Amino acid sequence: MDLQALWLTLRLATTTTLVLLLIGIPLAYWIVLTHARWRPLVEAATTLPLLLPPTVLGFYLLVLLGPATAFGRTATRLLGHPLAFTFSVLVIGSVLYSLPFAVQPLAAGFRAVDPALIEQAQLLGAGRLRILTRILLPLSTHSLIAAAALCFTHTIGEFGVVLMIGGDIPGATRTLSIAIYDQVQDFSYAAANRTSLVLIAVALIALLLLYTRRNQPGANRSAPQQAKPKAGPKPGSAPQQAKTKTEKKPGSPHSKKQTPLRAEHQDNSVPAPSRKYCADVKIHHQQGNFALEAAISLTTPWTVIFGPSGAGKSTLLRILAGLVTPHEGHIQLAGRTLLETQSLDSKTSIALPPGRRSIGFVTQQPSLFPHMTVRENVAFGIRHQSNEPRAQRVAAMLELFGAEALAGRRPPQLSGGERQRVALARALAPAPDLLLLDEPLAGLDDASANDILTRLLSLNLRVVYVSHDLAEIWRIPGEVVLLEAGRVTATGPIKKVLAPRRDDLLRQLSL
Ligand code: ADP
Repeated sequence: MDLQALWLTLRLATTTTLVLLLIGIPLAYWIVLTHARWRPLVEAATTLPLLLPPTVLGFYLLVLLGPATAFGRTATRLLGHPLAFTFSVLVIGSVLYSLPFAVQPLAAGFRAVDPALIEQAQLLGAGRLRILTRILLPLSTHSLIAAAALCFTHTIGEFGVVLMIGGDIPGATRTLSIAIYDQVQDFSYAAANRTSLVLIAVALIALLLLYTRRNQPGANRSAPQQAKPKAGPKPGSAPQQAKTKTEKKPGSPHSKKQTPLRAEHQDNSVPAPSRKYCADVKIHHQQGNFALEAAISLTTPWTVIFGPSGAGKSTLLRILAGLVTPHEGHIQLAGRTLLETQSLDSKTSIALPPGRRSIGFVTQQPSLFPHMTVRENVAFGIRHQSNEPRAQRVAAMLELFGAEALAGRRPPQLSGGERQRVALARALAPAPDLLLLDEPLAGLDDASANDILTRLLSLNLRVVYVSHDLAEIWRIPGEVVLLEAGRVTATGPIKKVLAPRRDDLLRQLSL
């Protein structure tokens, strides 16, 4: 066994793997996020080494590093010797040759992360780097390990590129694969056999570790939580009618604890809406065949958006949150311009990103970060606070929703209702100017839904609330915007605008 070649091979594979992870992570992230027109070109270029004969890559690298190019001449002048036939050039060649083995699994891992988690991170103010380090990488550990294992084993087995640019210098560029070639040339078949078995063993161990880990439960932790089809308006949403039972009632809002809780945490409570609270929204948006035209003023702390399925309620909320940019429109919230698209009568164009709108958004799918505890989830949007106030704020938010006992658990250990309590606590922790709720209580049992709504109504919040449930809506003191087929067909006090529908429903139920 050529121990020198073994050591060199392991050194090369380790260095190449580390360099490839450093390059591959940002490159894969860029490929997944970008809408740039030349993305296919970059993807094709990073995948090309999979199909190219190694000698082609080796040949062009030799040319690049030689005296014929400015790069080659500069490298030689700086190093004091030509770059070709050195360990460094082996690393460069191996990195280029194994690039697809890093980028492809990483990009696949990032793509598999539930986009709703990334949207929540954006809404909570996370920038691209934080989304990468706190959400994507922890949820793609399997892909990271796969990329590392593939890069390592592929580099260990590399022959053509290494021979072309490194030659066969013992101790400097002679790797195990070249040693095997030499041993065969010398008719030392027993030695070639031993060296080959070492290579097979290393590759097999790496792959076994990879597949053993992949088959462990929980390898993919980013699957959407509680992804249920949205409920449409139906007789089942009538007052007094029982909903599906999905969880146990975790705590009563009428318990002795309720009032002191709010008093104790006054400093940490959500902001009181100003008397002059007002949001002006004017939107034109086209998605496929569907057009949304809405011009509304939100003048009361709670505004309900009511309408049949497909009317555009979720789209309207996503536009308010900054997750969708409409083709035209403006949005003003409490004196701040969140959106002003360029139009004939306006030369400026503003579109604040979700994290700068001061808007919390909770949907039917709680989208909690599955790899973080409840405490970490709630703290995610207030990381700028120092430790103690942050911990107090997290505790206060959890208490507001009767979820203080859940702080140490992770989302997979929570019931549907508990997840929604945590999602609400997380959305309110940064004290947003506006809370958007898109059917957050759909699918919960009556007791839980009532408890959560009671808690929400007792807080000083500005809320835009989408629901199909007339019983729920009837409890809300505020206005309603009736949305039908992308158009606002009525606005006004809830009990006035929706009275005919409620009477119809009650008539149907009494039949
Ligand atoms: P609602 O929340 O009232 O049920 P949505 O806002 O979800 O309605 O959808 C409004 C319309 O827009 C529907 O007709 C839906 O099929 C369509 N739609 C939603 N998302 C997209 C999309 N990404 N591309 C094209 N059409 C979409």
